[in-house]
Amino acid sequence: MKAGRDYAVPGETDRTKHIATQRLKKMAAADLQRLRVLEEAFSSGLVQCVTCPTIHPFNSVEMHGGHFISRQFSGALFVEDNIWPQCAGCNWGKRGNISEYERFLTATLGLERVLELKRLPREPSKLHRYQIVEMRRSYAARTKEQRRRLA
Ligand SMILES: [Zn+2]
Repeated sequence: MKAGRDYAVPGETDRTKHIATQRLKKMAAADLQRLRVLEEAFSSGLVQCVTCPTIHPFNSVEMHGGHFISRQFSGALFVEDNIWPQCAGCNWGKRGNISEYERFLTATLGLERVLELKRLPREPSKLHRYQIVEMRRSYAARTKEQRRRLA
């Protein structure tokens, strides 16, 4: 048993209980990124990058869930409307293609929300393990729903 965690986490399965909390948090963040791509996919299963005309199937490794406010700022990591489909070229190549991203978000969410996103806390969010477990469960259910929609 790991030091510092000798209690059961509600809802935690045997599959994850030996995974360190920091790693589980990273897995949850990746789950949410994939979910956001699925949610924005057309019923054909294709997804368009929000910052350029590139289109890929939702399950393409070339299509990412790109963060507007960088995920290195943990306060932005799990904010869902901070995450939209982006092609690898924009997300990595153009480092988020931020000016296009801001134009898209302003048109989609409105200027007020964009300003709120920019004010997200820059310090790490303090999430308990049980919250991360619960988030992953919720993301998994929503992912299943989306996969049914796109099947
Ligand atoms: Zn792109």
